Amino acid sequence: MGDGNSVTSPAPGQTGDSPNSGSPAALDASKLKITLAQTLKPLQPIETLLFGQTFSDHMVVATHDPEKGWSAPELKPYGPITLDPQCSCFHYGGNIFEGMKAYLGPDDKIRLFRPDMNMRRMEKSCARLALPTIDGDAVLELIKRLVDVDRRWIPKESGYSLYIRPTVIATRLGLGLTASDHAMLYIIVSPTGPYFAKPISLLAVSENVRAWPGGTGGDKVAGNYSPGFLPQRTAADKGYDQLLWLFGDDRRVTEAGAMNFFVVVKRDDEDGVDLITAPLDGTILPGVTRASCLALASDPEFHQEISMRLHPQEMVYTMSDLAKWSSEGKLLEALAIGTAAIVGPCNRIGFEGKDIVIPGDGMGPVGTAIRKKILDIQEGRTEWKGWGVVCA
Ligand SMILES: *Cc1c(COP(=O)(O)O)cnc(C)c1O
Repeated sequence: MGDGNSVTSPAPGQTGDSPNSGSPAALDASKLKITLAQTLKPLQPIETLLFGQTFSDHMVVATHDPEKGWSAPELKPYGPITLDPQCSCFHYGGNIFEGMKAYLGPDDKIRLFRPDMNMRRMEKSCARLALPTIDGDAVLELIKRLVDVDRRWIPKESGYSLYIRPTVIATRLGLGLTASDHAMLYIIVSPTGPYFAKPISLLAVSENVRAWPGGTGGDKVAGNYSPGFLPQRTAADKGYDQLLWLFGDDRRVTEAGAMNFFVVVKRDDEDGVDLITAPLDGTILPGVTRASCLALASDPEFHQEISMRLHPQEMVYTMSDLAKWSSEGKLLEALAIGTAAIVGPCNRIGFEGKDIVIPGDGMGPVGTAIRKKILDIQEGRTEWKGWGVVCA
């Protein structure tokens, strides 16, 4: 590819007739056009749900072009979208996404969990890939409308929810290596159950890296994920569920699969336990669940509630540290953390031909208490610092 600077003018068919007719429009949720599906799909028994395999009746779509800005968004029947094969997204991967959930509480209200954090992160991901600017608050309004229209898809059972996948793709025509000034936003939703039924095993890898300083690991951009599929397959062939991503010659522990990773470690001063995770240095995805665990772990009100003293530590730690803590009997829990799993236990970590085995299959009082608290907030059984946002 030697044409990095050769295409700077818009591709044919994308220039409007009056280029200076006012400034491009921001995304405006109040302009939403609604076309409801004529026939609704049958709901699936919840026991048969597989993550991201079943989608609801509707979706939201909006498009951006550099002259007009964002189109009036449309809520319409779920279905295929048609795109020109020239589109930038198919060649250069200018795609970003978010992952969040809507929960139905015992009071029959729908709640989102700290959705502002997802929306700020989405704005940042778009900026990182030089996609058109998108107003996260408007996206959130659209999410609320979609979730309300498709509310029959939210399973009522505890642990089940409606997974929400807002996505922005680059739709600029032409193969020129340049930022896409055209984009499409779509939002699709999928009923989902508990992500891991049982504890997961991790294989620590250092031959492949997920993210590196100056890269995009700290943003939810599509290109971060497919390079992990091959090493993931290798891990599966060796009998492990997920990868534990390491970085650097000192083999720093970073993330587990596409989740943040925490360990609970006994302190020398016996004053509670440390809850340790890698710092946000640009290689770690700033998870909403991660931030929530850290916030709970530093909150005296939460300590009192669970009668435990937690010390959150965002710090660099390595495989040697893990091995040492394990051999000294200080490694108490290992937790994979994210929207899909909330807090999931990791029972063993394969490294250099040996397994570090975590007591209690990975989960102990800390993981259990944090998981319960977050689920209670999400499902509306408790109010906590405005984290549960009622949307309909
Ligand atoms: C999405 C994601 C997470 C978890 O983020 P949440 O906001 O808690 O869902 C962690 N790591 C990676 C790589 C991710 O893509």
